[in-house]
Amino acid sequence: MKTRAAVLTGPHTPFEILELELDEPGPHEVLLKMTASGLCHSDLHMVDGDNVVRFPIVGGHEAAGVVEQVGSAVTKVAPGDHVVCSFTPACGICRYCSTGRQNLCNMGATILEGSMPDGTFRMRHDELGEVGAFCMLGSFSEYATVSDASCVKVDPWLPLDSAVLVGCGVPTGWGTAVNAGGVRPGDTTVVYGVGGVGMNAVQGAVHAGAKYVVAVDPVDFKRRTALEFGATHAFADAAEAAAAVKELTWGEGADQALCVVGVMDEQVVSDAFDVVGKGGTVVITGVANPEKLTVHLSGSAMVYNQKTVKGTLFGSSNPQYDIVRLLRLYDAGRLKLDELITSRYTLDQLNDGYQDLRDGKIIRGILDFTK
Ligand SMILES: [Zn+2]
Ligand SMILES: [Zn+2]
Repeated sequence: MKTRAAVLTGPHTPFEILELELDEPGPHEVLLKMTASGLCHSDLHMVDGDNVVRFPIVGGHEAAGVVEQVGSAVTKVAPGDHVVCSFTPACGICRYCSTGRQNLCNMGATILEGSMPDGTFRMRHDELGEVGAFCMLGSFSEYATVSDASCVKVDPWLPLDSAVLVGCGVPTGWGTAVNAGGVRPGDTTVVYGVGGVGMNAVQGAVHAGAKYVVAVDPVDFKRRTALEFGATHAFADAAEAAAAVKELTWGEGADQALCVVGVMDEQVVSDAFDVVGKGGTVVITGVANPEKLTVHLSGSAMVYNQKTVKGTLFGSSNPQYDIVRLLRLYDAGRLKLDELITSRYTLDQLNDGYQDLRDGKIIRGILDFTK
């Protein structure tokens, strides 16, 4: 069948909306009619060369849709089911899935290649040849053929245009605070960067009972939004935040510093390391070009103060459980999703949406395929 999709043919080029040939689902695959897809910064990282992928590739990895057709061996979903996709598949049986670390599933080895785990592709273009699907999803497309290991069936009454955010940004941010940061009641947590991921680190820290949640972001609109999401303080730069944390904690320092900025750099990691006190934890969630070294710290300061510096992927979530868990929190009015969506775009407006993201105008934009 045919589908219209947003394709990147190389770095530093805009998305091109092209008509592609899409394969029928194989035995363990699912054909989805896309309802919504979130505009995450990771797709922009492909444009900017900070995510090194195989081109050509269809962007989009925060996906929600309705099942159109399933392969012969698929049992977990059926046509008509509502699905939110996880940006990492979970096979359920590898070493990582079996030990409660689905975010590290071995099946995710080809998500930057954009192929299925066996190296084959499901989309092609007359002139470009085989076209990859970012994160095995490629959700900037009207239709997508995905692995059933990427699918999470969700309650049919939930609006998919809000639920879609639980495919990447929400669990990544929320889990950065709750799972990786281990925020506990009474803690002081600093969040660097309060965009589509960081805003959920704020929500997570609030849920976990932090006494103070300090947001740091140069964009005024994002700081104001963070306060609405439960941050107790918001500052434009790290120095102001550090001074406030010192005062708030009687000189002890923060318990967690969460680095959730759009593009990671050495400065934010160093600021985070300095703002946490003894026994504190620094979590790095944002990425940068893998060639760039972004962590330069004193090992002695780490030892003497017993500080932990760790990376987290997908907020150390188990997507097959956490996507459902977070949506049930939303359903109960305990997690904000609708408020994260600043703007909606059609597939043809995708590049405008990413310009808005670059300009700091949006917390989260979504492609709305129903528009
Ligand atoms: Zn993402
Ligand atoms: Zn696995």
